[in-house]
Amino acid sequence: MALIVQKYGGTSVGSVERIKNVARRVARWKARGHDLVVVVSAMAGETNRLIALARDIQASPEPRELDVVMATGEQVTVALLSMALIDVGLKARSYTGGQVKIVTDNAHTKARIVSIDEQRIRQDLADGRVVVVAGFQGVDAAGNITTLGRGGSDTTGVALAAALKADECQIYTDVDGVYTTDPRLVPEARRLKTVTFEEMLEMASLGSKVLQIRSVEFAGRYRVRLRVLSSFEEEGEGTLITFEEDQNMEQANISGIAFERDEAKITILGVPDRPGIAYQILGPIGDANIDVDMIVQNVSHDGMTDFSFTVHRVDYPKALKILDPVVKHIKARGVEGGEKIAKVSVVGVGMRSHAGIASAMFRTLAEEGINIEMISTSEIKISVVINEKYVELAVRALHKAFGLDQPA
Ligand code: ADP
Ligand code: ASP
Ligand code: MG
Repeated sequence: MALIVQKYGGTSVGSVERIKNVARRVARWKARGHDLVVVVSAMAGETNRLIALARDIQASPEPRELDVVMATGEQVTVALLSMALIDVGLKARSYTGGQVKIVTDNAHTKARIVSIDEQRIRQDLADGRVVVVAGFQGVDAAGNITTLGRGGSDTTGVALAAALKADECQIYTDVDGVYTTDPRLVPEARRLKTVTFEEMLEMASLGSKVLQIRSVEFAGRYRVRLRVLSSFEEEGEGTLITFEEDQNMEQANISGIAFERDEAKITILGVPDRPGIAYQILGPIGDANIDVDMIVQNVSHDGMTDFSFTVHRVDYPKALKILDPVVKHIKARGVEGGEKIAKVSVVGVGMRSHAGIASAMFRTLAEEGINIEMISTSEIKISVVINEKYVELAVRALHKAFGLDQPA
């Protein structure tokens, strides 16, 4: 007998029929003698609908109130699933994040989980109940409702699995595992049987939304056994996130390709090249809670340099506004920006032992006539910024060039 945390995403609970289907799957696991805690997202499209409602009232909705609105999506699905479970003969109970007590910090719309009180869940499990918990939400120390950022139900699932020391956390979604790249973009993409935790961390942070980055971080910190599976298939093994590099990894130098369209690039032209300048530019950006991604500073000529960085596209107008006085203050020549960029990354632990990955990547892009605007690397990934209109072409070409469409 094991304790299993299952998380079902929006598409998997997108209709009454699908919710009933989830209940039948949970019942099958329960029948095998396991204890089950089930985390659910809002029905597909619901969170977007709620955000749109809020925006119809306020162009940039008050974060505290937006959280109250957004958290309703998951409150509906936990209760519906609980009813469906009772209907198939199980004992079940639903809880909101606040009821469990999933305590977070007070960063509305992107709160971090601070602690989880698992007493109530343990009691229910001991009483033979399936416990259904609302994903994506918690409460801060003052009792305000918070949400965990888009895709945050994954993090609820993994954090609960960590708190309960569950035997496995199963993320059920609309694909049957983690693929070499988004199968919606590249039909030849293949499911990976395993992917290392480090690779998954890179892929999630570089745009593969199959798992929210924070859920992967939690899995790493608490060594949660994490698996991604399809909620539409009967039985499948999905993809297991592993903590050891297995032998097969040696052959594959690249495991996956990630891409992110929602970025924007900002270049400050003619920046006087002197100590402290990067801080003068990026300090105010950080103070405004804007995450900076890639940073490139050019070689200086005559004491002047160009300084470029990327931010999330939603933060772009705000970043430009913040930089306006900064540019004047540091006496730079001006600011240039572009929203039509995207980041494409190749990821793989095999890169550590294989040379020439970067040149193979750059050659492939050159052959397709795609200009590289920025480059950044780590031990196991290479990312490039390119014009957004070439994303599909770049991802497909790289997928082929690195042999990811061939069976391993
Ligand atoms: P859920 O609603 O279940 O949380 P998401 O839409 O958040 O589902 O995540 C699943 C989606 O992630 C897939 O439908 C797929 O399009 C996308 N995705 C992006 N990169 C990958 C990848 N490497 N492997 C699998 N799916 C990916
Ligand atoms: N419903 C939330 C969202 O759409 C959380 C999630 O699905 O994980 O972002
Ligand atoms: Mg998701």
